[in-house]
Amino acid sequence: MPIYEYQCVDCSHAFETMQKFSDEPIKVCPKCSGKNVSKLISQSSFTLKGGGWFKSGYSSCEKKEEVKAKADEAGTKPPCSGCPSC
Ligand SMILES: [Zn+2]
Repeated sequence: MPIYEYQCVDCSHAFETMQKFSDEPIKVCPKCSGKNVSKLISQSSFTLKGGGWFKSGYSSCEKKEEVKAKADEAGTKPPCSGCPSC
């Protein structure tokens, strides 16, 4: 579930909330009940999560590619299991 960041324009209270894509965006500040809540693009957490996922997925794939390449040299092809990009 993605985490959305919001900031209240009235009291500058920043908060984040976990929501489904289908959920309505938060419109009321939980601190002052003001209705000038603006949605922030959560760059940091999104990049961190995405990067981490990509990195681990990539490195495990790289290992398998290496194994594959070695197997190719030897003339055998082991099946690659579990890697979505292979
Ligand atoms: Zn507020």
